[in-house]
Amino acid sequence: MVTPKSLDARSPLVIDTHELGRRMGAMQEISRQVPAPDELGTAVIGVPPGTPVDLDIRIEAVGEDVLVTGTARTEVRGECGRCLTEIADAIEIDIQELFVHPGAHSADEDDELDASQMEGELLDLEPLLRDQVVLDLPFQPVCRPDCAGLCVECGADLNADPTHDHGEPIDPRWGSLGAWQEQDRTS
Ligand SMILES: [Zn+2]
Ligand SMILES: [Zn+2]
Repeated sequence: MVTPKSLDARSPLVIDTHELGRRMGAMQEISRQVPAPDELGTAVIGVPPGTPVDLDIRIEAVGEDVLVTGTARTEVRGECGRCLTEIADAIEIDIQELFVHPGAHSADEDDELDASQMEGELLDLEPLLRDQVVLDLPFQPVCRPDCAGLCVECGADLNADPTHDHGEPIDPRWGSLGAWQEQDRTS
């Protein structure tokens, strides 16, 4: 079992459930703006570190457990996989997760629950946010679904110039001859 790193109650994505208590049905609404942690997203698209993330969540006592539901709204930036234009987009991430106290359930129950673990009265939204952002982001982002991409020969943006054409392709034999002459000159 992996021991989670000790949570810091002052971390913006750590929620202290102390005030909530454990009375069944007790509920607390939390709205806060937090800076995005590092590496939120994938290599090609993600939330730049420090971007404001608007958290609007509700925490609810469910027996010994705490149910967190709500949304996180923020902005992602990336690069179109076809034409390399910068993409900036707003995303809204749905949050729904049950947090359980360690030892509150049997190990079998924990496996079935698919829940996150609390640390004392603290719960950490960061791993959840991380997973959910990646799930929400496109695997291969494009600036628009019908992006035409770049010309494979010269790199021109085909969105700006849809009739772009090079006429007859250059005979590849001339290309290799050119390379050979080049080599001859330098030796
Ligand atoms: Zn594009
Ligand atoms: Zn071209």
